[in-house]
Amino acid sequence: MYADFALLLRRFMQPIKNIFPLLTQPKDVVITMHQKPDGDAMGSTLALYHFLNKLGHTCTVISPTNWASFLNWMPGCKQVIDYESQPAKADLLIDMADWIFCLDFNVLSRTKRMEEKLKNAKGLRVLIDHHREPQTEVFTYGISDVNKSSTAEMVYDFMVASGHANLIDATIGECLYAGVMTDTGSFRFPSTTASVHKMVAHLKEIGLEHSHVHEELFDNFLEERFRFIGHVLLNRMEVFYEYNTALISIPQNDLIKYNVKTGDTEGLVNYPLSISGIKLAAVIIDRGEERKSSFRSKGGFDVNTFARKYFNGGGHFNAAGGFNKEPLEEVVNKFKAAIKENASQLSSYQF
Ligand code: 5GP
Ligand code: MN
Repeated sequence: MYADFALLLRRFMQPIKNIFPLLTQPKDVVITMHQKPDGDAMGSTLALYHFLNKLGHTCTVISPTNWASFLNWMPGCKQVIDYESQPAKADLLIDMADWIFCLDFNVLSRTKRMEEKLKNAKGLRVLIDHHREPQTEVFTYGISDVNKSSTAEMVYDFMVASGHANLIDATIGECLYAGVMTDTGSFRFPSTTASVHKMVAHLKEIGLEHSHVHEELFDNFLEERFRFIGHVLLNRMEVFYEYNTALISIPQNDLIKYNVKTGDTEGLVNYPLSISGIKLAAVIIDRGEERKSSFRSKGGFDVNTFARKYFNGGGHFNAAGGFNKEPLEEVVNKFKAAIKENASQLSSYQF
């Protein structure tokens, strides 16, 4: 009976505050995030990296894959290990780690080729995340809160609640600001609470230069990216007014022709979403090894459920993604069938 109880207990992650008393003993720490990290994944992991280093821990940030070059300016980014290019080094660090912080993802499969390694690691896994339905049974400690704007905000809360807010400096502030700005669409999504603005006010007080962060993230693209965006908006976008839906589907040849790099397609889905009357926007990209989709909605259409049901994915209520192994044409047909199936919800939307 006691053994059963112990097993049951292990299935529930302990509150993150239980590790606060342990923070003062130096540990070997690995911090990781979801594949193809965005500003929130990279910003939150690097903020935690600087914070834990200041507390005397030995930390390494490992990304499951490469990332967009517009993240490279972030303090500490040059030390981040790309699992796909340095697997042996990363494996060794994971083997040695006492703690493995898992930031900005809910299920281990979001770390792609790292999944097995993380699953079998002897170090304690700690979750800080805001996606729905976390795999709580694989984390010893953690916090999951879908109401939070960003993982960066949660890392800030973690620092404050741990009693070490005095360690938050302008470097940490830049990383946190990059994360929260990315995930709130520059403070415009409904998730932007008073707490978010209070956090930013605190970061400003300790010297954050927010316009520098904005410029690094948004004013650093190559001309080719905008030629590509022009091309796909003109030639690859379909609007289904009867379903208040718009889709951009992109064949792999377009990516090659315009020399599209990791991160260049981020935010693309917001263009069709900005069309008046559109409730659901999708981008489906043929990345060669898989078809990657992004979904965004305005109002009451739940793209998390939509992505889970049809596209092996998930995410948040108004922003989700997924992937398929089928050819692009089949995935596009699947999407068209899916919007028909959801016609009652999509068509009834009041503007
Ligand atoms: P994006 O469209 O920017 O790739 O992703 C939007 C949101 O959905 C992000 O919060 C991202 O973490 C989540 N997401 C994207 N792809 C997947 C996926 O394949 N599985 C799950 N569970 N979430 C995803
Ligand atoms: Mn996030």
